[in-house]
Amino acid sequence: MKYKQMVPKHVEEYWKISRATRDLCHKDLSKDRRRWEMSEVTIAANIGDFFPEGDMRQHYELDCCAECFLKRVKPALEQALGVEFRERRTEESDLEYAAIDAEAR
Ligand SMILES: [Zn+2]
Repeated sequence: MKYKQMVPKHVEEYWKISRATRDLCHKDLSKDRRRWEMSEVTIAANIGDFFPEGDMRQHYELDCCAECFLKRVKPALEQALGVEFRERRTEESDLEYAAIDAEAR
């Protein structure tokens, strides 16, 4: 006859990102997302040196949803900096919208 006992299995613990809320509106975009909704907003910078021995850059980022980007971030940056975001469909090349460089040879 065989007997059995419950033996606790060693479980390795590790940290993972469980969810992310947006910094401006605090929405959790993992919920209530439409099936084909594929908006992506990236507001980030890596500033500093990248040596062969290691990446010494400082990373800056702001999590932002598409709605906050369009209604708050984009207008604020355009107004504050006096610039205008270039717009194109993602499937279009930015080459189509680039101005001809008169200084290039
Ligand atoms: Zn938002």
